[in-house]
Amino acid sequence: MSNAIEKVDCLIIGSGPAGYTAAIYAARAALKPVMYTGMQPGGQLTITTEVENYPGYPKGIQGPEMMEDFKAQAERFGTDIRFGYASKVDFSGTIHKVWIDETTEVHANTVIIATGASAKWLGLHSEERLNGFGVSACAVCDGFFFKGQDVAIVGAGDTAAEEATYLAKLCKKVYMIVRRGEMRASKAMRQRVLNTPNIEVLFDSETKEILGEKSVDGALIYNNKTKQERKLDVTGFFVAIGHQPNTAIFKDWLEMDESGYIKTIPGTSKTKIKGVFAVGDAQDKVYRQAVTAAGSGCMGALDAERYLAEAGIH
Ligand SMILES: Cc1cc2nc3c(=O)[nH]c(=O)nc-3n(C[C@H](O)[C@H](O)[C@H](O)COP(=O)(O)OP(=O)(O)OC[C@H]3O[C@@H](n4cnc5c(N)ncnc54)[C@H](O)[C@@H]3O)c2cc1C
Repeated sequence: MSNAIEKVDCLIIGSGPAGYTAAIYAARAALKPVMYTGMQPGGQLTITTEVENYPGYPKGIQGPEMMEDFKAQAERFGTDIRFGYASKVDFSGTIHKVWIDETTEVHANTVIIATGASAKWLGLHSEERLNGFGVSACAVCDGFFFKGQDVAIVGAGDTAAEEATYLAKLCKKVYMIVRRGEMRASKAMRQRVLNTPNIEVLFDSETKEILGEKSVDGALIYNNKTKQERKLDVTGFFVAIGHQPNTAIFKDWLEMDESGYIKTIPGTSKTKIKGVFAVGDAQDKVYRQAVTAAGSGCMGALDAERYLAEAGIH
């Protein structure tokens, strides 16, 4: 028995800040957008606590509450929001085919990909337990909460080096935990870290445990060379070992960089396939903020609207 096929003008995949913003614009432009939320309705901000840097919330707001506001605004203009996961796509024709949960088949004139990215974690139980209570994967988002305090950051690449120097401007002391005997970061970034007086790099080191009952109050570090354990008195613990864009299902159809971030035509949300647009963290490995994701969601909807008008569809 074949499944019913649904035809839509604008399909939005993902319900983070990028997806909801695209939905608000597309719905107000009468594109009748259909959105599938994926397994994390509301996206990455639903796993954080306080968001203080999103304009319009002068007193700050809890991440999950902010995403409820985004959702309400998208619904107000008629976005059809559904729980479901895009499991397969076929972008070979002018009608773009997307399968939801392996069962529903959607034929869309335009697709806005807003599937975001997921931070990579160390995999410690204590890291999961204290996530949002001193453990964070975003120094730019959460560094401010640790002003004047001692923190640790794990990672050895350019992003980790950049985040360590960012934290060093706010915090009293930053311990940078590097697994190997050297950093992977570029020479210039390495030098920046090593020249920052309040960063102490702990080479050959791994995190055994993040300590604390209700919030972080330390970290247990093991040195692979000396075989010694050391307790760091830190109140913040940042993980900067990379992000994984949620783009695997598109890899046969769209151009991506080596990490899987979708390539768009610079200054637009357009991919190499006409009518398919990529927005938010799924195509942005540089800024990765809610406000930049929302901004690019707006671009996606405007690009989709123009494409439909030029193609004489809408
Ligand atoms: C702990 C933490 C704290 C943060 N704090 C801040 C902060 O204070 N301020 C700030 O500006 N930014 C913050 N960020 C970054 C911010 O959350 C991201 O930049 C932003 O959420 C990216 O938005 P997005 O819409 O591109 O993707 P995401 O928020 O990642 O949402 C992706 C969406 O796609 C869906 N999805 C994925 N795959 C599929 C699929 N196959 N089918 C259907 N749906 C799918 C998911 O369910 C999800 O709804 C934080 C991030 C983290 C992890």
